[in-house]
Amino acid sequence: NKLSLLVCGGAGYIGSHMTRMIAEAGHDVTVFDNLSTGHAEALKWGKFVQGDLRNPEDLAKLFAENSFDAVFHFSGLIVVSESVEKPFEYYDNNVTGTLNLLQAMRKHGVNKFVFSSTAAVYGEPVMEMITEDHPLKPLNPYGRTKLQVEEILQDYAVAYGLNSVCFRYFNAAGAHPDSTIGEAHSPETHLIPNILLSCIDEGRRLKIFGSDYPTPDGTCVRDYIHILDLCDAHLKAIGFMDSNKGAHSFNLGNGKGFSILDVIKSSSEVIGREIQFDYEPARAGDSPRLVADSSKAAKTLNWTPQYADLRDIIETAYRWHKNPAY
Ligand code: UDP
Repeated sequence: NKLSLLVCGGAGYIGSHMTRMIAEAGHDVTVFDNLSTGHAEALKWGKFVQGDLRNPEDLAKLFAENSFDAVFHFSGLIVVSESVEKPFEYYDNNVTGTLNLLQAMRKHGVNKFVFSSTAAVYGEPVMEMITEDHPLKPLNPYGRTKLQVEEILQDYAVAYGLNSVCFRYFNAAGAHPDSTIGEAHSPETHLIPNILLSCIDEGRRLKIFGSDYPTPDGTCVRDYIHILDLCDAHLKAIGFMDSNKGAHSFNLGNGKGFSILDVIKSSSEVIGREIQFDYEPARAGDSPRLVADSSKAAKTLNWTPQYADLRDIIETAYRWHKNPAY
């Protein structure tokens, strides 16, 4: 049946792919975004309402003029180092903004919520393959904002019957294979875009942050997941909440760890040339290894990643970065 879905942050990297997937699944979709980091050029699907989560009046108007069956929330500030320097902005946008959104939902009787959480809620890893039961000890304000919202959602499920699914993303990467939308952060802090941009843009040299981590080659190990696999799980979460009340959290990853040097090697194979880089000091707060056990999402949501091969993820990203629309 046809649903009416709200995507907060639908002009951003993950939100724009989600919005498109919802529209292509035949549902009505509305994007709410302040365009602070998102791109107007990515708004090719559904209806767009410009506004800010920190302004309850924007939300009151949005919910008064539309009726939604569920809400996806991607409007987050995501740069770890910035969260250390500007904690107010992070708590204000990521926590207060979310509280405002949940308040508007309560007022209008919308009781399904899908939230972008992060592997950063786990902090220093104590498991080889991280399950959802891993201790929750974020190392920075960014991770704390996400964990606080997860905790708020637990309380809201009990008190207000608000059903929610939090997805703890490992490393989202890649782009839509037709390359009309893709990843465009400014400044770009993510590894795969920075590798590819260093090949496309002669002036940009790749930096590897840290060479003496306790990993096989000394560089950090991460679990990369394709943006469309990530979005697919989100769409499945809506049906899941029909029959599963309460607040739920799921990891989203591929369950395979790649070091920075592994990702550079795969990128080099995809692009067909050598990739130069320099070692720089480690970034503050980076975990040596973050690899997901995503079997809970796979089993519970009947979810199977379609881009499990790292080269396919890199290849779709490369197609986008060669000729980005924005
Ligand atoms: N990284 C790097 N060079 C870059 C960007 C990232 O060496 O230009 C490293 C980063 O320090 C981390 C890994 O690549 O060890 C993944 O970083 P990213 O920012 O993509 O995701 P994170 O795991 O921090 O969310």
